[in-house]
Amino acid sequence: MKLLTCEYSGRTFAAVSDGARVWEAAPDMRALIEKLGGALPGAEFCTGEGIALADVKLLAPIPAPAQDVVCLGMNYVDHSAEAESWGGAAEFKKNAGKAVYFSKRAAYIIGPGDLIDGHFDIVDSLDYEAELAVVLGRDAYRVSEAEAKEYVLGYSVLNDISARNLQTAHKQFYFGKSLDTHTAMGPWIVTRDEFAWEPELPIRCYINGEKRQESNTRLEIYGAAHVIAELSAGMTLKAGTIIAMGTPAGVGMGFNPPKYLKSGDVIRCEIDGIGALENAVG
Ligand code: MG
Repeated sequence: MKLLTCEYSGRTFAAVSDGARVWEAAPDMRALIEKLGGALPGAEFCTGEGIALADVKLLAPIPAPAQDVVCLGMNYVDHSAEAESWGGAAEFKKNAGKAVYFSKRAAYIIGPGDLIDGHFDIVDSLDYEAELAVVLGRDAYRVSEAEAKEYVLGYSVLNDISARNLQTAHKQFYFGKSLDTHTAMGPWIVTRDEFAWEPELPIRCYINGEKRQESNTRLEIYGAAHVIAELSAGMTLKAGTIIAMGTPAGVGMGFNPPKYLKSGDVIRCEIDGIGALENAVG
């Protein structure tokens, strides 16, 4: 089942979809997650005629998350290797064997087709990162790896848009990762029961049709079970938490010379079984 947020007939609401039709389920995704109470949506949501999926405008599945996005850095071996070329991985080497976590402010998450503001007055190195997003359906505290699956609602595609000059100048990722419109997510959340645990899904990113990133989520160094267990050992991950699982090799910064984004570029992030997320730089 797909969970989505959409506009239809002048209203915005959260809905479930079978891929062909959409059934309104709650005023917004946070309310829908609360309504589900940790369960996955079933046929009880698909009563009545519904609306044709093609007739709704999709927004980010969680347009205004309650908290910042939890992000992993250097979580694919190949991306770690390319980061060596610009020295970005050096500071993490002393931390070898531990996941790299950081936070991405996302007061508003843009959805399919929304424009990315390049903030080119302060950004000279705008970059893209295609990632698997894991969305939690229940509050998680002291959850073991074996139990972690039951806390996952589903998965989406996330573009961790990054202002590299700010990311590197300010030592910590927070500012460089958090500019307005720099989190894109969609086109929906696909519930966890549609995939193996943990999901092993081809992931790709195209810039203006040119393939830049191609990998598989099974090549993540730390998977969702590890992350949920490790973080929840000491902090509560609230229902609705979005975890961005890191990006594979092929980001613009990894090329020599770098291939940064410019106005008019179209970024397409896709994960097989979930869908594609396309945004242009305004
Ligand atoms: Mg990232």
